[in-house]
Amino acid sequence: PVRVRFAPSPTGPLHIGGVRTALFNYLFAKKHGGVFYLRIEDTDQTRFVPGAEAYIFEALEWLGISPDETVGKNEKFGPYRQSERKVIYKKYADQLIEKGWAYYAFDSAEKLDELRKQAEAEGKTFIYNHTVREQLDNSLALSKEEVDQRIANGDAFVVRFKTPTNEILELKDIIRGTVKFDTNLLDDKVLYKSDGMPTYHLANIVDDHLMETSHVIRGEEWLPSLPLHHLLYKAFGWEAPEFAHLPLILKPVGNGKLSKRDGDKMGFPVFPLEWKTEESTSMGYREQGYFPEAVVNFLALLGWNDGTDKELFSLEELVASFDLTRVNKSGAKFDPDKNKWFNHQYLVQKSDEELAILFKVELEKRHFDKLSVTDEKLTKIVGLVKERANFVTDLWDLADYFFVAPTSYDEKVTKKWNEETKETLTKVAEQLNAYADFTSQAIEDNLKAWMTANEIGMGKVMQPLRLSLVGELKGPHLFDIIEMIGKQETIKRIEKAIA
Ligand code: GLU
Repeated sequence: PVRVRFAPSPTGPLHIGGVRTALFNYLFAKKHGGVFYLRIEDTDQTRFVPGAEAYIFEALEWLGISPDETVGKNEKFGPYRQSERKVIYKKYADQLIEKGWAYYAFDSAEKLDELRKQAEAEGKTFIYNHTVREQLDNSLALSKEEVDQRIANGDAFVVRFKTPTNEILELKDIIRGTVKFDTNLLDDKVLYKSDGMPTYHLANIVDDHLMETSHVIRGEEWLPSLPLHHLLYKAFGWEAPEFAHLPLILKPVGNGKLSKRDGDKMGFPVFPLEWKTEESTSMGYREQGYFPEAVVNFLALLGWNDGTDKELFSLEELVASFDLTRVNKSGAKFDPDKNKWFNHQYLVQKSDEELAILFKVELEKRHFDKLSVTDEKLTKIVGLVKERANFVTDLWDLADYFFVAPTSYDEKVTKKWNEETKETLTKVAEQLNAYADFTSQAIEDNLKAWMTANEIGMGKVMQPLRLSLVGELKGPHLFDIIEMIGKQETIKRIEKAIA
């Protein structure tokens, strides 16, 4: 059975790469009728950030991809927080030592630093491996009695993995095919520390095994850990899960990897870490007005496609078409403009009624304590401008003149106005005032008939009229605007513009 996991470390807000990993795991699980579980990897206490864990759950819930099992939910293989599983890891670290796959090392931080600097001076990198391990301060060089004595004395130690030498590992990755690793180039990684905490590597492998993980789907930055993880499964005598390493997410321009800083500029997190507190000033996708469906959609296409040109996918459609073997090896470009386009697609898909409700919330929050416009009118206004909006918040900039008269007029246009313009506008106001039927089509028919009868050119009327009502030469069909604004207000605005 398929059991996959998202295993974040609660060290800050979830960033786009992490969310994509969660999504791909979710899609894979659902596609195969399996389980998507979430494990909190919080063994590195120095990087612990309060609130980050709750944040992760909230972010996934907002996106609609909550795990089936996690802390406080269907804890079949619980606890799902690594800091609560400490006793488990000790046992496995001991097991590896007994089997000769790991050893105690007592080297001080200063000593290791010195060795690192020394190597650097020679233009090399220090690797704690077979070439040096026998000469260092560890249980491979000490007698059993000496080791026991030092541990009894309370000397600080770490447990290191004893990487086998002279092996070329040919490992399988679902996305990359066979990947080769030379064990001689690997570090004897620390698995466990005398403070009772395992490192990521040990905890991750033990838990993936105990929680019956069938596939490990994670970011490419973990590919270098694959040989160690493979060897750990071998050392324990466990069957390894299958692996799939997702491609890097690249900057919009150039070829670099998308960094946290680029991301922050683009509203990188799903929402700010301090999302619950008022003083939060940073922005996330949610604050920018992204619909969760749009975020899910653009994330899914970061390194995956269904083999056609199709770009718009609902979550259900993604589940149906997702296929790990169709994930690309090469990096996926992050494109903030395209992300906006996705949001636009989801915005225009919504009915005018639905959008009007969302817009109303915006209006009452930012512009009006109490709105005098009816829901029906609001729905019409939204319908008139939504084609140009990417976000609900854009609707205000596109439609503000429906609610308030312009306070300034585009000077590039008004500087061309003359007495004739003003006379024409005065006559237009008189005309409009006389119309009994004040619906868009009727106004248009009447006004155009009047223009023809009096031989007044279209441009002489339409441009100044639009400017009087809107302040700029923008907006939808002019007669729709006039109907919406109403007779009284239209005339008032014309008078103000020529005053
Ligand atoms: N805790 C690791 C992270 O923060 C998990 C990596 C993995 O999936 O193995 O990304």
